[in-house]
Amino acid sequence: MQPGLRIGVFFGIPLYIHPSWFYIFVILTWVYGLRYVSLHRDSGFLGLLAGLLMVIGLFSSVLIHELGHSLVARSFGIKVSSITLFLFGGVAAIEQEPKTPGQTFQIAIAGPTVSVLIAGVLILMNRFNSRSIIGDVGDTLGGINLTLGLFNLIPGLPLDGGQMLKAIVWKLTGDRFKGVYWAATMGLLLGWFAIIFGLWTALLGESQGFWMALLGWFVVQNAGTTKRFAHIQQALVAIKAGDAMGREFRVLDANLTLRQFADDYVISESPSPIYFTASKGRYVGMISIESLRSIERSQWESKTLHDISQPLTEIDGVTEKTSLLLVINQIEVKSLRRITVLSPTGGVAGVIDRGDIVRALAGRLKSRLSESDVRRIKEEGTYPPDLPLSAIAKAYSDLS
Ligand SMILES: [Zn+2]
Repeated sequence: MQPGLRIGVFFGIPLYIHPSWFYIFVILTWVYGLRYVSLHRDSGFLGLLAGLLMVIGLFSSVLIHELGHSLVARSFGIKVSSITLFLFGGVAAIEQEPKTPGQTFQIAIAGPTVSVLIAGVLILMNRFNSRSIIGDVGDTLGGINLTLGLFNLIPGLPLDGGQMLKAIVWKLTGDRFKGVYWAATMGLLLGWFAIIFGLWTALLGESQGFWMALLGWFVVQNAGTTKRFAHIQQALVAIKAGDAMGREFRVLDANLTLRQFADDYVISESPSPIYFTASKGRYVGMISIESLRSIERSQWESKTLHDISQPLTEIDGVTEKTSLLLVINQIEVKSLRRITVLSPTGGVAGVIDRGDIVRALAGRLKSRLSESDVRRIKEEGTYPPDLPLSAIAKAYSDLS
């Protein structure tokens, strides 16, 4: 989601507001302002001021709810990169999935707990308060926080209750993916129910039905994406580097001079593959074009590839049994174009780039992918926009 406008930092977490919030701000100030005016026969100005206070209170309520999730997540060492308030509430963007079902459950329940507590305080305070316009604002906010807390407990993703259901199924089965499937499937069912029920009541003349249908649509979209991403993650854990690697590399004699290397390979091969060197049947190391450039041209006749080979023990490599999920993370963290797959004997088994990764994934998920698409991904060195594999893998980096 586009973060929107950055308006400040709370507990070190940047807060963004989606542009839709500005319409809500104006509309709700107006709606509630008029309501307070009619309730108290006060001047329009005082009523609108109370309306404004109510909307700021609503805004703060959503923010505090998200801070509840965020601070608990942070106490588990999980970084929260931002909080965004949008049309249907807020989103705290946590950078990694919690490692255990217990942590997942605690982070999820923290938001509704905070909301219900605030509701309790506001409702209690108002019992001792005389009927005033401020008391009415407190009542409205108490009701909103109670709704915010209880509504979020509905057990379907992307609601907090969905996260809690995920944690429970995860705990019971020991399988995180089963938890995600259940919670996302519940989200899809509830979302479709909200769409159908909302449209039906809207047809009967209840205008709030449209709102419910819209909310249902948001839930369906979100739960669908979550389910799809979980499916991809599961595949990425199952596929091993050995299944995905290609053999787009060349092994050259380490005794070749740098001049021969430049003339016979670097100039003529474009795009240049990855080069390894060997001598007497054993791998010596890997060659980078940059290390060739760092040597004075006058020395290219006398120096050999031996001199610029980087030993295989020092390069970024994975084994054939490394999961594709970890391969993706390594490639991203180190900003590599491709990574070397090392054999158990310390030789080179293959190389993997982003194109190889997408091809292996498509094969596993039986989705259609042409070889020209793979070529393009290999050349551009980026994943397709509808398949954000770096983000999908990063979120689960600690789980495999
Ligand atoms: Zn929440």
